[in-house]
Amino acid sequence: MLAGPGTGKTTTLVEAAVDRIERDGLSPEQVLLLTFGRRAAAELRDRIAARLGRTIREPLARTFHSYAFGLLRQDAALRDRPAPRLLSGPEQDLLIRDLLRGDVEEFGARSWPQRLRAALLTRGFAEELRDLLLRAAERGVDPAKLRQLGRQYQRDDWVAAARFARQYAAVTALRPEAPAYDPAELVRAAVDLLRGDPALLERERRARAVVFVDEYQDTDPAQEELLQLLAGGGQDLVVVGDPDQSIYAFRGADVDGIRRFTERFRRADGSEAETVALTRSRRAGAVLLEASRRIARRLPGPSAHRRLEPDPRVPEGEVDVHLLHSAHQEAAFVAQRLRAAHLVDGIPWSRMAVLVRAASAIPLLRRTLTAAGVPATVRREELPLVDQPAVRPLLTLLEIATGRRALDTEVVLDLLVSPYGGADPLALRRLRQELRRHELATGGGRSSSVLLVEAIDDPGALLPLDPVAAAPAQRIATLLEAARKAVAAPNATAETVLWAMWSASGVAERWAETAVRGGPGAAAADRDLDAVTALFDTVARFVDRLPAAGPAVFLDHLLGQEIPGDTLAPRAPEGETVAILTAHAAKGLEWDVVAVVGVQEGVWPDLRPRGSLLGSETLVDVVAGRGPNPLATVSHVLAEERRLFYVAVTRARRRLLVTAVSNEEEQPSRFLDELLPWTGPGDERPLTRVPRGLDLAGVVAELRSVVCAPDLPPDHPRRLAAAHHLARLAAAGVRGADPDQWYALPPLSDDRPLREPGEPVRVSPSKVEAFIRCPLRWLLQSCGGTAGDLFHQSLGNLVHGLAYDVATGALAVDDLLDAFEQRWSRLDAGRGWSAAKQYDRAREVVSKLAAWLRANPHELVAAEADFEVEVGRARLVGRVDRLERDSEGRLVVVDLKTGRSKPGSSELPQHPQLGAYQLAVERGGFRRMARKATSGGAVLVQLGGDTKKPSVQRQPPLADADDPAWAERLVAQAAEGMAGQEFVAIENHWCGVCPVRRSCPLHAEGGQVTP
Ligand code: SF4
Repeated sequence: MLAGPGTGKTTTLVEAAVDRIERDGLSPEQVLLLTFGRRAAAELRDRIAARLGRTIREPLARTFHSYAFGLLRQDAALRDRPAPRLLSGPEQDLLIRDLLRGDVEEFGARSWPQRLRAALLTRGFAEELRDLLLRAAERGVDPAKLRQLGRQYQRDDWVAAARFARQYAAVTALRPEAPAYDPAELVRAAVDLLRGDPALLERERRARAVVFVDEYQDTDPAQEELLQLLAGGGQDLVVVGDPDQSIYAFRGADVDGIRRFTERFRRADGSEAETVALTRSRRAGAVLLEASRRIARRLPGPSAHRRLEPDPRVPEGEVDVHLLHSAHQEAAFVAQRLRAAHLVDGIPWSRMAVLVRAASAIPLLRRTLTAAGVPATVRREELPLVDQPAVRPLLTLLEIATGRRALDTEVVLDLLVSPYGGADPLALRRLRQELRRHELATGGGRSSSVLLVEAIDDPGALLPLDPVAAAPAQRIATLLEAARKAVAAPNATAETVLWAMWSASGVAERWAETAVRGGPGAAAADRDLDAVTALFDTVARFVDRLPAAGPAVFLDHLLGQEIPGDTLAPRAPEGETVAILTAHAAKGLEWDVVAVVGVQEGVWPDLRPRGSLLGSETLVDVVAGRGPNPLATVSHVLAEERRLFYVAVTRARRRLLVTAVSNEEEQPSRFLDELLPWTGPGDERPLTRVPRGLDLAGVVAELRSVVCAPDLPPDHPRRLAAAHHLARLAAAGVRGADPDQWYALPPLSDDRPLREPGEPVRVSPSKVEAFIRCPLRWLLQSCGGTAGDLFHQSLGNLVHGLAYDVATGALAVDDLLDAFEQRWSRLDAGRGWSAAKQYDRAREVVSKLAAWLRANPHELVAAEADFEVEVGRARLVGRVDRLERDSEGRLVVVDLKTGRSKPGSSELPQHPQLGAYQLAVERGGFRRMARKATSGGAVLVQLGGDTKKPSVQRQPPLADADDPAWAERLVAQAAEGMAGQEFVAIENHWCGVCPVRRSCPLHAEGGQVTP
């Protein structure tokens, strides 16, 4: 039976099985259904039991593996031998890596070709080798045959792998507790058993009056052979499948199995079996079907089964293809479309899905969808156990406790933001600040990164800190302490250590409550609990099998696991969320709305050769009689990728959205035009702009912009409609909808001046400058509106500290760079390229400081000297970096600047900050240090710009100015203004970097404050 997507294949299969039982009077035990994946088998079984209205004693639906396993176990029981065991993928990897390690350590890897020896101990090599062994076993290629093929095709790696395969088979078969099989060997072993025991074969054939096989396109040659034995030669056998949905070649499936079925399984009279095609699409309507037919037409092989008719009762459906400029925009666009489908069309979240080619694309999508208000869950089976967010931190702590991994800043940060640490970026910052504060208070100077590591390592360091800020670190430190204690206990196993950590974490109850309560966190809590349950399941099984193996061996076993294990653990209900999953995992499922995302050339199709190191694909081709032909291999891979895309686009019941990124680096896939050729204007599909998000803030902003649109007449219907909707939102309490909350509209809360008349005003030279430049910016920054460039501030402090040490004689100019190197590590500049850049910049600033100090001819009077003088209403206070005496005995204030920007030369004569310094000198602010107080000018030493040398900017002495009183007037004017009641925005050339621009009425970003 050839059954395209959505043609009712499973229902037909269930009905056929029920029919045999109800109409032909077979007992359920005489009906055998074989399929792929334990979950599919369980679902088939449940559906048949429900249809029959009774429970069934024997599982009539099974996987090939479970059937083969049953035969082997039965045989072992009859012969009084221990029951065989199935090797899981990760266990197999572990075994292969062990044997390879033995090869390298004992024999210097001499049996392997020279070019491969260096790679032997890598995980990648073990995986390639496992792949080759599986493909060989599925295709009946034993070690002798593999060696012969290696010689024939001049592949010395196959010859070496053949020797290894013999060793591997001996080890698995000779295990003391029981023979262990990998999945491919299991089916092969069952075939051998049936062949070697004609009585058993006859019994099995007679026991099954009819055999059904679902998803037949996924069979490999070993499974086909097993089926030949069981139901070949004219037995009653029905196989169902769709060659166009064969997407598991990488697991050994061979699409030829279904294409050649009628030749290979003939009737008792030798004629070919009948083929029936299901041709009515019950899932996709006309439009969706037409699009998927365009892909289907390009697939290889006979095409009769591809002519599907839409069911007239099913709506036509929609197909959309969009190109976006970046992956972020793509994710935002998908989020917007899903929200629209939910909010406008009322489609429940659980009837939507986002499909990707590779799991690596999932994190960005999940983050963007969640941030845009689309509840999304990643199917647990998409991530191997070790990568589950609730499992990874426990394994990391286990690694640290067993000494396999060092505790460093990155590890600590990962642990702190994990579900066990529970810190968000704000909490992390608070913790770092608290650690630094305490360090400085106790006279230390270490960076917060160093302190973080210490605090986790030794929780005593957390005791003096604010308990709220320290809480995330405390939680992780407690887990590590518990793990270390458990590791040190006699007979420690991975299970005892993990259990000690889990008990100490105390999260079980919190997660369980969240899961039961529902809401956005429920799905995540469910998923986390499931993952931890699976971890304990795995560790319990591991400890049962290898009771003497310590925690380190378990870590090896589990950390090698990169493939999600097939699990029957009940899946957490995903609730009302959008599923994000790979196209492979989506097979057999369907949703109303499906978004297929990231369809890029190079990603989908991904034409990189598979199994290229040891040539497992070539082996498959050779055994299938295709010969090693690189071109044929590429076309094979392309066909498989197209089938995968076909599977993805045929999951949609009503609406299909396919997206890709198009920019200088990434091109959309050829599959997009195959699905929906571009017929609009121009040669190419244009880029789509991401519309405004359909969240409440976005809607309120949109409505407000219509209500306030300057070009609409007051009674324009659009304006009235927007006002009506805003009123509804305001009544519902939505933030920002009520005009009372619009910054520009409320009356002034207080119009009194900031200071009482005559009250003195404290001003500093830098504040004078800031106020004169823009009073509004000064006001908002004084009230906390700062950008807070912590690194820049720290660099300034470091340079000023070095200059001070030179001035006081504590440091020689020649030692400046050495001292800088020592102090740099305390700056917390982070890691990576940006930290390296900052380091280079800081070093250059210090080099320029040294150059300037060496060349400076003036006598130093004081460094970091404070002053305070009165200038009318102003109390002018501050501190100068250096106070120097020039050749004429006058005082010169020097200000060291580490920033990049500097004033233009035309601004210098009346530069407010320098003028204020000079005024402080003239008014006797430094009388303590120099009795004669005449200003000889003021200097800015620019150390931070792009020039190689320091640049020195001088302001002439006040006395030499045309108007010597300008500085006094300026300071007095600033003090008056600062005490006043109105603060004007003055546009200037620093507006581009102004941190309060979003509150400035002169700029579009600040439009919200403009009436
Ligand atoms: S953007 Fe310019 S004008 Fe506006 S507050 Fe900032 S500095 Fe002043």
